[in-house]
Amino acid sequence: MRLPEWRTRAACRGRLDLDFIDPADEQIDQCRVICTECTVRELCLAEALTTGEAWGIWGGLDADERAAIAAQAGHPAPAIRPTHGTNARYAKHGCRCTSCTHAHAEYERERRARVRARAQGPWARPIVLSKPVRTGGRWASAGQYVLPLLGVPTPGEQATETGRFVSVA
Ligand code: SF4
Ligand SMILES: [Zn+2]
Repeated sequence: MRLPEWRTRAACRGRLDLDFIDPADEQIDQCRVICTECTVRELCLAEALTTGEAWGIWGGLDADERAAIAAQAGHPAPAIRPTHGTNARYAKHGCRCTSCTHAHAEYERERRARVRARAQGPWARPIVLSKPVRTGGRWASAGQYVLPLLGVPTPGEQATETGRFVSVA
């Protein structure tokens, strides 16, 4: 594939010591410094914006910064990259920022709870609720038969706002 002519003038050309596409955290600032001195910075940024480039430092900006500009200028949003604070960003994109790490821990807690619930078996005996229970934004009324399946707290448990179940005295 032939590269656009401007790339031959890129300040990052030949900088094999720096990974502009997937820079390690400690390299990001070094990349940005090189971009500030680059004569084709605007062309580089424009290409990343028009193609919705999801990775790396282009024109001195990272994907989140480009997403902000893209939203204002009507460019395509950088290709589907989950936002920070999601397990997908943690698991598929390797982000280890505090909010992604937290989201991942939460996800894992819920996944283990689902595994435990499933281990009880889908044919567990139905139970009758002794009092109304809120589950996933809906109320199950007292007297209602429910199966102790995924997403339904057993008696003595109450769903929290995050969807987890906690014991209630
Ligand atoms: S702006 Fe940065 S990433 Fe783009 S060509 Fe220049 S040095 Fe490379
Ligand atoms: Zn993150």
